[in-house]
Amino acid sequence: MSHPAAPAGSEGATPPLTRDRIPRPIQELLGTLLGDGQDAALVGGCVRDLLRGARVRDFDVTSSAPPERVLEIFPHAVPVGLRHGTVMVPTEAGPVDVTTWRGASLEEDLGRRDLTVNAMAWDGNAGALVDPFAGRRDLAGGRLRAVGDAAARMAEDPLRALRAARLAAQLGFDVDSEVCDAMRDSAPALDGVARERLGAEIDALLVAPHPGRGIRLLQAAGIADRLAAGTLPDAADVLDRLPADRVLRWAAWMRGASPESVLMRLRRPRVLATRLVRLLALHPIEEAARPERGVDVRRLLRRAGDDFDRLVQLRRAELIGCESGGEDATARLAALERAVAHARSEGSLALRRHDLALDGRDVMEHLGCRPGRAVGRALDFLTERVLQEPACNTRDRLLVLLDAWWAETRR
Ligand code: ATP
Ligand code: MG
Repeated sequence: MSHPAAPAGSEGATPPLTRDRIPRPIQELLGTLLGDGQDAALVGGCVRDLLRGARVRDFDVTSSAPPERVLEIFPHAVPVGLRHGTVMVPTEAGPVDVTTWRGASLEEDLGRRDLTVNAMAWDGNAGALVDPFAGRRDLAGGRLRAVGDAAARMAEDPLRALRAARLAAQLGFDVDSEVCDAMRDSAPALDGVARERLGAEIDALLVAPHPGRGIRLLQAAGIADRLAAGTLPDAADVLDRLPADRVLRWAAWMRGASPESVLMRLRRPRVLATRLVRLLALHPIEEAARPERGVDVRRLLRRAGDDFDRLVQLRRAELIGCESGGEDATARLAALERAVAHARSEGSLALRRHDLALDGRDVMEHLGCRPGRAVGRALDFLTERVLQEPACNTRDRLLVLLDAWWAETRR
């Protein structure tokens, strides 16, 4: 069959997509479909990423074969979305979704995709790129444009608004003004989209290389407020100053909002929500302890746990953009960091039960008692004493303290 050639001017913009750049198991899968007399092409994000020379997250194949036939051809295939004509075929290059093309041809299928950079295919038979919407030109120019009329396409499926912002954040691309307008118009309709899908896009956006770009688009479209009321205007700038750590990036976005309700609504893991609530309760970190009081500093370290360094990173990223009053906070933050470094350098910091120089078994042996609540209380008492005076954390000194506590409790 014949396909329109890639538009003039796109050649050389990105290196050509030749067969040898496609992993062998994927070539074999295409070959099997072709051998059955079907048309088969790689399509969407994988073609985009192969052209960019980037790592491909998942390979998608579109084919003339109906799902029933795909299930017959590949004995290990699993029907995953038969309603949409999708069958998952396991390969050595990972699971591949094979979807019957929507419409009467490959071009029609491409015409139903969201953005031009996602509407390219690599035809397995011709071994050539199929690019009816100049996706390759937009890829080279760093532009996200809609396939067809942006407003109509986004009205069809408002999730596309989030996909556009997420891809801008991943690729660092500019979004066409028509797409931006359509994003704003589609914002109210996002209420009708499955929350799990919204959450997955937001998560991918936040951990992407250019999160600020994505968040700015969502802010301008009125989508950010709709998904997370109360988030701050500086979120985009702060996000761009932080490494791609999921907890840190979510925390930066959740400042000013209620993380628990936002994350539950977006169907994100409860453990992440709980962690963000705990973390943001200590933000801004320099106000959470007096650096000159060692016991305060150790108590803070116990509360912040692994997130202490994240809290410092978050606050620094915020203070860089602070117009006034930032110097005082920066100085207090630096003092706290010095105090924490000092506390950590003191060696074995016992902040929790399991950091103590003895354990529950030692307590039972020494007191001659059985497992029970008294053992837990004894360990809590000792932990608190060590927090106040780290030098107590030797077996001998703890046993002396334990005797005193035991005598006191039994009085
Ligand atoms: P990723 O690299 O994260 O996988 P992707 O663009 O491949 O990004 P997928 O969800 O894997 O995203 O979708 C594969 C392809 O399906 C897209 O590239 C696009 O062509 C098409 N597609 C996905 N979702 C939509 C949608 N909501 N509307 C139109 N086309 C879509
Ligand atoms: Mg994909």
